[in-house]
Amino acid sequence: MKMFGTNGIRGIANDFLSPDLALRVGRAAAFVLGPGAIAVARDPRTSSDMIASSVEAGLMSAGVDVDDLGMVPTPALQYYVKTHDDVTGGIMITASHNPPEFNGIKCVAEDGTECSRQQETAIEDAYEKPKPGTSWDSIGVLRRIPGAGEAYVDAIISKVDADAIRAAKLKVCLDCSNGASSRTSPMLLSRLGVRAITINASPDGIFPGHESEPTEDNLKDLKKMVVDTGSDLGAAHDGDADRCIFVTGSGRFVPGDKSLAIITRQAASRAPGSKVVTTVATSKVVEEAVASVGGKTLYTAVGSPIVARRMMSENAVAGGEENGGIIFADHQFCRDGAMTLAKMLETVAAGKTLDELVDSLPEFHTVKAAMRCEDSLKKAVLDGIAEMHMGEKVDVTDGLRIDYDDGWVLMRPSGTEPKFRVYAESRDASRASELSERFLREAESVRDSAGERRE
Ligand code: MG
Repeated sequence: MKMFGTNGIRGIANDFLSPDLALRVGRAAAFVLGPGAIAVARDPRTSSDMIASSVEAGLMSAGVDVDDLGMVPTPALQYYVKTHDDVTGGIMITASHNPPEFNGIKCVAEDGTECSRQQETAIEDAYEKPKPGTSWDSIGVLRRIPGAGEAYVDAIISKVDADAIRAAKLKVCLDCSNGASSRTSPMLLSRLGVRAITINASPDGIFPGHESEPTEDNLKDLKKMVVDTGSDLGAAHDGDADRCIFVTGSGRFVPGDKSLAIITRQAASRAPGSKVVTTVATSKVVEEAVASVGGKTLYTAVGSPIVARRMMSENAVAGGEENGGIIFADHQFCRDGAMTLAKMLETVAAGKTLDELVDSLPEFHTVKAAMRCEDSLKKAVLDGIAEMHMGEKVDVTDGLRIDYDDGWVLMRPSGTEPKFRVYAESRDASRASELSERFLREAESVRDSAGERRE
């Protein structure tokens, strides 16, 4: 049975995601992530203790020891796994930005990166064919480990110019979205000498402030607060804090591709020829910003584990996606919300305000659209469009992307829904709309004629 989606196993707690399922996943994961200890952590959802206890029971029943880290952000668990030799894997109980009734199980490999699809398949296979538990005298031991959040914050501080940040005497509004960062990110700011005004930092699991996805709409309070308090900037995490999204001092929401451009440009400026990795769905603003300091941008299929692995093989300095999840090679190969926050503070401490940094980026216009398409016709649509554009600059890394001198279009089949997503971008807004409309029209006609042939 395929249980893992793009973000681990997700479902409504005590419904699909029952304690029984969690126990069996824990026992299955023990055979794939063991034989060393497995670290388990959770976000503050009301169901997280129940799901974590079940996963832990499953792990111990297979003879594996458990290090229980309590409530910490996903990247703090990943850092713990990476830095402890006796720990050979990790399991995070979180549904990231989903509504409070959801929860999820996400598995981490020995090096702290997200598990590969092969490891997830191995866990699914072990779930289908359960092995008997271990004998009574080799049941695993549970160790409650305090301080994983502090060690993670220490590591971040050691990777930025903390003295420069302290000297800049910054004032920051921080929105923890009532999530797993509610302790660690305020601690990080205080230790960096930042005057922090924190909202939605009660980790109560029901997200009373706003939904835990840091969209512009959800950050209305933060935008107002940054302006009212005269802060230098605002920052917001998603529920498990592997992402960070920013607001400028004048209260402007900064889309994730722009913060990615600002931070990767800064990272690439340290050494000539530095490489940065992002996905084919990211705005060209990143490539241009990185090129402006002599760096090079490499593109992958969508998905942060894919970005992380390409960063390792190419020796890239930084990378990420446009949703605010940024990866730093000198820290760890996974998205890290608090590290993203610290790096942004370091960038601002170097002199320019976040408003000035945003204004220094080239302006692009993006149009996002979608088209209905049955799964059985998706391949025919991609092939048909590729054929129509033979001889043009076609890239099939993920879906189909065509680059022109004045813009680009990406058509991606959704992995979970019967639809195609179409992204078009250009410096000229009307050209972006024109590209989007033209490709939608072409795709609809290929879909309709492929459907007729099928009938
Ligand atoms: Mg997340």
